[in-house]
Amino acid sequence: MQKLFLAIALVAVNLTIQAQTGIEAIMKRVYEEEIKTYKGKEKQAYGHLRAQQPDGSWKDINYKDSSMTVWSATKHMERLLSLAGAYAEARSALKESTNIYKGLINGLQFWLNENPLSKNWWHNQIDMPQKTGELLIMMRYADQKLPADLEQQLIERMKRGNPDAMTGANKTDIAMHFFYRALLTGNKELLTHSLEQLFMPVALVDGKEGLQYDFSYLQHGPQLYISGYGEEFIKGVLKISTYVAGTPYAMNKEKLALFSEFYRNTYLKTIRNNYIDFSVHGRGVSRPDILLKKGEINRMKNLVLQDVGNSLYWGNTIRDWTNNKAENPPYHQHFWKGDYTLHIRPAYNFNVRIASSRTKRTEAGNKENLYGKFLPDGATNIQVEGPEYYNIMPLWEWDKIPGTTSKDYAEDQPLTEFWGVAGNNRFAGGISDKLYGVTAYQLQYNGVKANKAWFFFDDQVVCLGSGLQADGNENLVTTVNQTWLKGTVSVNSKNQAIQTSVTKEYPGGTMVYHNQVAYYFPEATKIGISNKTQSGSWYRINNAHPARVISGDIFKMWIDHGAAPGNASYAYVVMPGVKPGKDPAPPTFIKILENNNHQQAVFHAGLNIYQAVLYEAGNIVLGDISIKTDHPCLLQLKAESNGVWQLSVADPLQSAENLNLLIGKNDGSKPKLLKVQMPDGPYKGSTKQVSFKW
Ligand code: CA
Repeated sequence: MQKLFLAIALVAVNLTIQAQTGIEAIMKRVYEEEIKTYKGKEKQAYGHLRAQQPDGSWKDINYKDSSMTVWSATKHMERLLSLAGAYAEARSALKESTNIYKGLINGLQFWLNENPLSKNWWHNQIDMPQKTGELLIMMRYADQKLPADLEQQLIERMKRGNPDAMTGANKTDIAMHFFYRALLTGNKELLTHSLEQLFMPVALVDGKEGLQYDFSYLQHGPQLYISGYGEEFIKGVLKISTYVAGTPYAMNKEKLALFSEFYRNTYLKTIRNNYIDFSVHGRGVSRPDILLKKGEINRMKNLVLQDVGNSLYWGNTIRDWTNNKAENPPYHQHFWKGDYTLHIRPAYNFNVRIASSRTKRTEAGNKENLYGKFLPDGATNIQVEGPEYYNIMPLWEWDKIPGTTSKDYAEDQPLTEFWGVAGNNRFAGGISDKLYGVTAYQLQYNGVKANKAWFFFDDQVVCLGSGLQADGNENLVTTVNQTWLKGTVSVNSKNQAIQTSVTKEYPGGTMVYHNQVAYYFPEATKIGISNKTQSGSWYRINNAHPARVISGDIFKMWIDHGAAPGNASYAYVVMPGVKPGKDPAPPTFIKILENNNHQQAVFHAGLNIYQAVLYEAGNIVLGDISIKTDHPCLLQLKAESNGVWQLSVADPLQSAENLNLLIGKNDGSKPKLLKVQMPDGPYKGSTKQVSFKW
């Protein structure tokens, strides 16, 4: 009996030791990760030390500043991190420098006494406590540690914010410094609590901010933020899950699977050759360099260690990205919660951003994205090489965002509603069979109405608009593209003169070519083509950035619908990934079957795919097939082998429980009645697939 008791006691002691080692081991990982930033940066640290004043402050920092975005006092903490990094790094030349140590102590004491605060809670409750935690952990591994009372005061100062009260990335960000504090104090309960909060956002939510059932990411209300806040979410979760991997505190398998799915199949797919879609960054679209994503390989390398179930995928992906040879395999997905479509082919990406009354339009806020008024009105991100829109934003004409239909004002219109407003239209959606699909958007904004639809195939995307109406004196325009000018612009193989902007009526069958993308206009269309220098500044679109005027050459093409049209329409076919040389053949195998106020439909004879948008219940004729529906819907009919047809349908109003389709063929075969039970709950709006034979 006594022996048994002793054995149990020993086990208990062992577990305690293990748990303690767990915390120690985790903290060591944090140290090793954080210290990387400061390797070989002694010169920088020494420079900061030399510029430091005897009281530990820096002359060039305004400690009374309380700015929202670029807050002056951040520099103080960054310089202290630089000193701490140089002092705590094992191979640093300043490892034993008493001057560096003194400077650090003075700087920390000054920070405690001065207690600088920003008007933006993010600095106070997220960034500063996080940086303080990182600094304190680094110093735990220095030759001479910080005086215990100073460390204790700084740990106290970290107690800001409450992760339990926050959602999404903000929750993760606050929980991160709770996690650091738990490590520093060896507090297991706090560690468990912080990890619970850190990993809580790794769950599907409906009607809330965060990771959605369609694997889009929404924040600031139901607003598309696959990057921006979505990237913060990835960063935070990945960082912490890497620290605790293999310990009793590791992220569980279910959460790991969700996280991996979002990162692999949503986030990474919005990136082409290191450049991300301009539509997934919310108001961040107005920040310099934001579209270039250089650090993904490091993230992948951290995830592969945990996500062993996908190690083959990660092995290949890391290899391809390292060699700048990402393959971009064919993929199509519509995000019915996020109002966004991904369409990827090895030769190009063509993604669409739409809006609805269920989501919020792209926001302005904190003096950022001041002209992004029309960003969600059917923006098309067309990438072949990747950097087509990289840093173009200060030069953009903001009522000609690629893909959108909007009034063409003489001066760009500022976005005066902040933090995002809901769309006005209910009708917005898409179908996807993972390879092909249709997206439709009933635009209703700023006195403009339009039925906009995109039909996605392998080498072509058909863009249709119908029922276009607008009030006001401005011309209504649908912008085909506005991208960096690269090489020549040709119309029907004839080069446009440089530095020109011409609007005129072109006959049906016109083919325009620019930078590996061909644009085909099947009908006579009034088109504006501009290949001129445009100017602007980052400050104009985002007040946190320089007012210096910059300029560059831009290719811009739009369809001119005239002023206050009553019922205009448009049709164009985009063929991205066409090598320069000869214009591609007109896509005569694509038939536009309908493009009126009630329905739009396209047939691709090469693929044997019919696609249709029905804005109202009723009949639609697709070649020798006729379909009667009892509800507005999007549908795709694809002929499979052996006389089997695959029907894909989606409900863009997200309201139908069932959809009844009577499908007839004019060859005398009996019409087929398909009663389709539509997806429910958080899957309302997603695609339902049914196979049938006549
Ligand atoms: Ca304009």
